[in-house]
Amino acid sequence: MQPSQCTCGQPLFFDNTRCLGCGAEVAYEPFRRRLGAVVAAVDGLWTVSGDPLDPPPLFRLCAHRAAAAACNWLVPASEPAAICLSCRLTRTLPPLDRPRNPARLLHLESAKRRVVSMLQRLGLPLVPKSGDPEHGLAFDFLESLPGEPGVITGHLAGAITLNVAEADDDYREKNRESLREPYRTVIGHLRHELGHYYWDLLVRDTHWLEPFRQLFGDERADYGEALKKHYAEGPAPDWPGRCISSYASSHPWEDWAETWAHYLHVRSTLETASVYRLDISQSPVRVTPFTADVVHTLPLPPVPPEAVEAFLEWINAWIRLTAVLNETARSMGQPDTYPFVLSGPVVEKMFLVHCVVQGDRVAKTPSPPDTLAVPVRDGRGG
Ligand SMILES: [Zn+2]
Ligand SMILES: [Zn+2]
Ligand SMILES: [Zn+2]
Repeated sequence: MQPSQCTCGQPLFFDNTRCLGCGAEVAYEPFRRRLGAVVAAVDGLWTVSGDPLDPPPLFRLCAHRAAAAACNWLVPASEPAAICLSCRLTRTLPPLDRPRNPARLLHLESAKRRVVSMLQRLGLPLVPKSGDPEHGLAFDFLESLPGEPGVITGHLAGAITLNVAEADDDYREKNRESLREPYRTVIGHLRHELGHYYWDLLVRDTHWLEPFRQLFGDERADYGEALKKHYAEGPAPDWPGRCISSYASSHPWEDWAETWAHYLHVRSTLETASVYRLDISQSPVRVTPFTADVVHTLPLPPVPPEAVEAFLEWINAWIRLTAVLNETARSMGQPDTYPFVLSGPVVEKMFLVHCVVQGDRVAKTPSPPDTLAVPVRDGRGG
């Protein structure tokens, strides 16, 4: 999303509901991805300050603005819904009279809005289950209550369950250590589970299924057994050469979900670096760039070589950027921003995710994800 400013000049950020400079109400309009001060109009409706459209469209503030979600999204006045698209995707809330749940929900809903905003940007289907019970999407944010079976984070037929304790730093860190994960975040969980949802929607019954099986393996392998084996015996020793994480090596579905999540991490973070004009072209960081030979199993459906080149330019920019981001995080004593190493086979899998996300667009235009502005000028191995 483009950096935004209030009419008073104060910078605005994605979750703001009020300008810290002048006190104006601030809201986000998801359809045009605009964040700005809003002005009260007639009948409890609002317009966005400086809206280029004439007359400016009217909106309602999402009814969850004052709720635990502290949602700052707008709903078009023409829609009957009182709450925004992101809030409509949440089907089940944890009991909010329990002490930690309001703060947990704030964290989860904020992460979900960021993820949903990128899915919209990518033009991916995004329909709440309330509107389409068969293909729609719903989030159930559940708490493990004493005396009841524990809540397990996962996806089933468009319903994404997230244990709300994942919003607690102590719980997440304990699991991150015991499962030997380098990275565990709410936004990572959401993107991973969405990977399962979009696999059902965009791969399972489509021409992408065969390319998927070639790269990720045959998903008809017994899933329950595969996970049991993974937790009992640990990951296959060769996983770093072919998967983005050890968990990804447990089953082709998990490999897909992990790769999908990383694709969204990269798109979102590179877009942010790009719109904030973070220029690392003069950085002395040298990386060995990936070249077209990493995409050798693909393309099965015809994909022009320019599309492969553009994708590789994008991923190579990511590798340079993360080298800098990781080093700046270390300077602050923080964990690495991106504690992963991409291998050729993983890059090829990410290219398949890119093709599925772009759909027909990937064959029609060779353009990379159009978020790239981080120039790449590396020679090989320098
Ligand atoms: Zn202001
Ligand atoms: Zn909302
Ligand atoms: Zn999974």
